[in-house]
Amino acid sequence: MATTGTLYIVSAPSGAGKTSLVTALIDSGAQIRVSVSHTTRAMRPGEQDGVNYHFVDHAQFNAMIERSEFLEHAQVFDNFYGTSQKWVEQTLSEGFDLILEIDWQGAQQVRKLMPQAKSIFILPPTQEALRHRLTNRGQDSGEIIERRMREAVSEMSHYVEYDYLVINDDFNHALSDLKAIFRSNQLAQAQQQQRHAGLLSELLA
Ligand code: GDP
Ligand code: ADP
Ligand code: 5GP
Repeated sequence: MATTGTLYIVSAPSGAGKTSLVTALIDSGAQIRVSVSHTTRAMRPGEQDGVNYHFVDHAQFNAMIERSEFLEHAQVFDNFYGTSQKWVEQTLSEGFDLILEIDWQGAQQVRKLMPQAKSIFILPPTQEALRHRLTNRGQDSGEIIERRMREAVSEMSHYVEYDYLVINDDFNHALSDLKAIFRSNQLAQAQQQQRHAGLLSELLA
């Protein structure tokens, strides 16, 4: 395939809804793939290795750093997270659009390597709503939730580095905003030129 896919970065403070929104986007039939990160954090109930994350220990993670296998990696809270370079490059070169759900530190690294990446920051409607979502999700201890709430304000201060902001108050409203961002990028002239090369050459004959 001659076309190269578009790389999207989605960041948000923990609990703002990025995983739910990205999952709903894929379930709605959007032709876009999502990178599965490697992490050293413990698996949550219901998570599956290779689906939500590739769960690895510190030794495996460090070995991957030494082999330069990560496009980006970062420490978030007390855990390490990283994105496989090989999978990202291969998926983009096959022409697929691709989402990375990564934190702001990883986003900064990816923007340096791939300045054409489009980045989206998802915000909760209030700090209280964020706390409720983390609590209702029911997957983290009270101590972990407090830690994530303490980090949330400094994480959110990075919104200025992103191309798009989505406020996740009403879920369906936020989902349609997200869809609009992807759709408008697909309609960009450079993308359309590749997609409709046949039509354009006929029209201009
Ligand atoms: P992480 O903490 O960064 O891993 O984020 P996760 O994807 O694990 O989930 C954070 C929490 O926010 C989860 O409980 C989600 O289900 C929740 N969440 C995601 N999207 C929304 C949303 O649009 N509205 C509400 N109310 N909660 C959401
Ligand atoms: P993140 O991936 O950013 O940590 P999640 O997608 O796991 O966030 O969402 C955190 C919790 O908030 C989940 O229980 C999810 O169902 C809920 N949630 C997400 N968006 C909304 C919303 N707009 N209104 C209410 N609850 C939401
Ligand atoms: P969680 O452990 O709750 O799934 O994720 C915690 C944080 O780590 C989130 O802010 C999430 O965006 C970030 N994260 C998840 N995967 C990656 C990754 O591959 N790289 C980086 N830099 N951050 C990640």
